Amino acid sequence: MYTCGPTVYNYAHIGNARPAVISDLLVRVLRQLYPKVTYVSNITDIDDKIINASIETGDSIEKITSKYEKIYNEDMQSLGVIKPDIQPHATDFIQEMIELVQKMISNGTAYASDNHVLFDVTKYDSYGKLSGRNIDDQLAGSRVEVASYKKNAGDFVLWKPSVDNQPGWESPWGFGRPGWHLECSTMAEESLGLPFDIHGGGMDLIFPHHENEIAQSCGAHNENKDPSIFAKYWIHNAMLNIDGEKMSKSLGNIFYIRDYLKNYDGEILRLALLSGHYRQSINWTDETIKQSKNNLDKFYRILNKVSDVKINEDDIYKCPSKVLDALCDDLNTSKAFAEIIDISKKLSLSETLENKIKYKTQLLASAYVFGILQKSPKKWLGIGQTQDNLDSQHIENLINERNEARSSKNFSKADEIRNKLSQLGIEIEDTPNGTIWRSK
Ligand SMILES: [Zn+2]
Repeated sequence: MYTCGPTVYNYAHIGNARPAVISDLLVRVLRQLYPKVTYVSNITDIDDKIINASIETGDSIEKITSKYEKIYNEDMQSLGVIKPDIQPHATDFIQEMIELVQKMISNGTAYASDNHVLFDVTKYDSYGKLSGRNIDDQLAGSRVEVASYKKNAGDFVLWKPSVDNQPGWESPWGFGRPGWHLECSTMAEESLGLPFDIHGGGMDLIFPHHENEIAQSCGAHNENKDPSIFAKYWIHNAMLNIDGEKMSKSLGNIFYIRDYLKNYDGEILRLALLSGHYRQSINWTDETIKQSKNNLDKFYRILNKVSDVKINEDDIYKCPSKVLDALCDDLNTSKAFAEIIDISKKLSLSETLENKIKYKTQLLASAYVFGILQKSPKKWLGIGQTQDNLDSQHIENLINERNEARSSKNFSKADEIRNKLSQLGIEIEDTPNGTIWRSK
C-alpha cells in the first residue's frame, strides 16, 4: 500500500493527519487479514513550496526538510500512526525519475520542449478515468494562458528547468528538477513494484495528482488502456473542515497538530479523526475533541477497575470478529466503534473473572486496531500523580493515616484528613482494591 506523504516545509496541520491516520487504520486492518503488508508513504523533500520557504527564511533546503520531517514523524507517532515500512525521499530517486521520463519520451507519451518535459495527455486514452473528468471539461471556462512550450493545455510537467540558484540535477533536458506527480509514480514503483494493491491519499489529490501518477506510470510502461497496471485499488479520504469552513491560510483557521498536542493526548485527536466515515468530511470543532476525550475517559475508567485482571498479552493482537467485520465493510468506523462500546459495557458489568478476562481482552484487541487505549489507565486518569510540586509520599502518608483512623472507627479524624487532602487539591476514592487518589 502506498499513501502520498507530506511535503516537508512547515508544521503539519490537523487536516494533514487524516490521510495518515486512516491509512494507518487500514494497514492495521490488513495486518489482521494478511501475513505480509508493506506500507509505503513518501517524504516530498523537493518542491516549489520548500524552495519558497528557503528563500523566505534564509535557511537551507536541507535544514528545512530535515527539521519538518522529524516534526512530522514525531506528530504522527503521537497520533499512534505506525511508521511506514518504507518512507522514501524524493531526492533519493532522481535518477529513477529521469529513467521513467525517458521511457515516456520513447513511447511517445511525453515530449521535451524548451528545457521542460511534458506529458501529452492526448496520448493516454484513459486520462480522466480516475477523476471522471475528460480533457474537454478540464479546459472549458479556463482563461489561463497556455504556456508556449505546451502542445495541449492539459499537458503537465514531468521535468522543469532550475534557474537562479534553484536546486536541481543534471538531466538529458538540462539542469532541472522533477514535477511532484513524477516523484510519487517513481517512489511507488521503486518501493513496491508494479502493480501494487492499494494507493491512498486525500480526495483533493484525485485530480490532478493521482490522475497524473496513473498517466505517467501507464505511459512509461506502454500500457495505454489499463490504469490497474499501476495500482489496483484507490482509497481517498474526504477533507476536514474547521467549524464548518474549509481550512485555509486566508481564513486564518489552520490548526497545527503540534499545538493540539500541547493540550490533548494524541489518542484524543486520533479518535476524533476517526469519528466519521473516511469518505465523509469531518466537521472539526471543540465538541468533536471533547466527545472523543469523554469516550476515552470512560474506557480508561472501566479498564482501571480491572487493572489487576491478568490477560494473555499475545491475544490483544487478534481483533474480535464483530469489530473486524465492521472495519472490513469499507472501514465502517462508526459501526466498529459501537461494537467497542458494547464490549466495554460488557466488561464493566462482568462479575466473574472469566468474563473479565474475556471482555478485557476483546476491548484491548479492538482498541489496538483503532490505535487507542495504549496508555496506562492510572496515568490517563491522573491517578497517583500530582500536578505542580506536591509530594506524593506525603499524600500516601496522609492516606495511610486516614485508613488507620477509619479502621479504628475514628471517623472525625478520617474526615479531617480527607479535608486536608482536598485543600491540597487531591481527590480520593475508596475502591475494593484500596484508596486511589488524583489531582483535582
Ligand atoms: Zn503522491
